[in-house]
Amino acid sequence: MRAEPLVWLAAVLTAAALACNTNEPTKADASSATSAAQPPTPAAASGSASAAPAPDAREPRTPNELLARGAPTFVVGTSGDDLTDKKLRAQAELVRSMLFPAAPLIEDTKIDVAAGPAGWPKNPVVYGGPHVNAALAAISRQLPFEMKAGLLKLGRDTMSSDTFVLITVVPGRAADADGPGYPTFLLYAGTGTPGVAEINGLKHGSDGFLVGDAFGAFMRGDWAPDGPTGKVRPLLRVSQEREDLEHNDPVTLELRTKPGKPAGKVRVWSIRAQPNADDAPHRSAVLRGLESAAKKLGVEDLPDIDVFLYPSGELKAKLTGFAGDGHAVPYARALHMVKAPPGPDGPLEHLAAHEGTHILTHGAWGPPGTPLLGEGVAVWVSGHYGGKPLASFANKEKAPPIRALLGPDFRRLPEGETYPRAGLFVGAAVREIGLPKVREHLFGATAATWDAACAAAGTTPEKLEAASTASR
Ligand SMILES: [Zn+2]
Repeated sequence: MRAEPLVWLAAVLTAAALACNTNEPTKADASSATSAAQPPTPAAASGSASAAPAPDAREPRTPNELLARGAPTFVVGTSGDDLTDKKLRAQAELVRSMLFPAAPLIEDTKIDVAAGPAGWPKNPVVYGGPHVNAALAAISRQLPFEMKAGLLKLGRDTMSSDTFVLITVVPGRAADADGPGYPTFLLYAGTGTPGVAEINGLKHGSDGFLVGDAFGAFMRGDWAPDGPTGKVRPLLRVSQEREDLEHNDPVTLELRTKPGKPAGKVRVWSIRAQPNADDAPHRSAVLRGLESAAKKLGVEDLPDIDVFLYPSGELKAKLTGFAGDGHAVPYARALHMVKAPPGPDGPLEHLAAHEGTHILTHGAWGPPGTPLLGEGVAVWVSGHYGGKPLASFANKEKAPPIRALLGPDFRRLPEGETYPRAGLFVGAAVREIGLPKVREHLFGATAATWDAACAAAGTTPEKLEAASTASR
């Protein structure tokens, strides 16, 4: 029983919606994340308090331990503006629908914070930092870190940027002079507003806390007891190798979606290469890919984007923890790509269009409700998968039904089956109902809201399925 949620957790948390690998990420990631979660768990699993060094050995230490304890209650912040609240809620809904569809989801204001730990639901999984979540704001003086828009303070480290995320199991604390106390809870928060775009895509599960940035995991550690009433302080375990990056100057390019004024900036970082020596064709390919994505998506208000180009997949995996040719980190508006042939309409241009789509849609449309639509739009925009034109996948027999791909099957089946199918489906849906309706209704829909979303778009799941089958 216990293995099942952990495997699902790992599959979704680590494989994410965005890692676009040529290999098959789900199985390997799931097994490594699951095994990584095993060693520290005996105390928590047995419930034995004998010889336990921690203040309460039964309390979960990591996300995997907390979620293994039973169904969570999702708590979403509502103290941002309407769009912020909507994006925050959609990110929580995405995870809930994939992992715990029966789990309740409540707003921060429903918690009786003044009542202390008793005022909270069981196994809380909280989304949003104190600047966007009223429950967290009410206990912010007791939290073992400080977070607000653009700032995270953790121990001796002060991090000023709106691109940091924090995933942590905050150990429970009793009432004291600093606040009413709270139970142990799992938190997904970022210094952006709301700062949680695809935060679940960051590999995590077996650390007490993890700080992420554009590279993924930046700091990992555990909370150590520090004084009375459950106070804790951070103990850092790992920090990633960054030396090359810190000695590297990025080249800034201007993104143009139409002639005339630039619509956004792209900073390209060439890892382990002289920036002006040999990467100019690669930078041009990236720019062409991003511009074509913006045009096809009809996105005109472009964010500034950081692009990291790697000489090899090995180095990319070492620095980011993600193997594969490319992946996007939407909360930091960053793309990581291994250099591929940079010619016109070539592999690097297609990869930039695909990964850029993840960044552009997050900014302009919000998070996708399913990986089917998230990846489908990216594959459709790039027009390619695995180096082949999307149209060349159109005659595949026995494609899995769309309804199955709205749920966990999408990450269960091989990427080589699901991604082209998703791209062809999105293409058919765009022809059938037009891009604005795909964006407005289908993109953010989950398996649970799919039928209603189709109806709102003036179609039915059956019509869309038929259209996508006819196009194959
Ligand atoms: Zn993708």
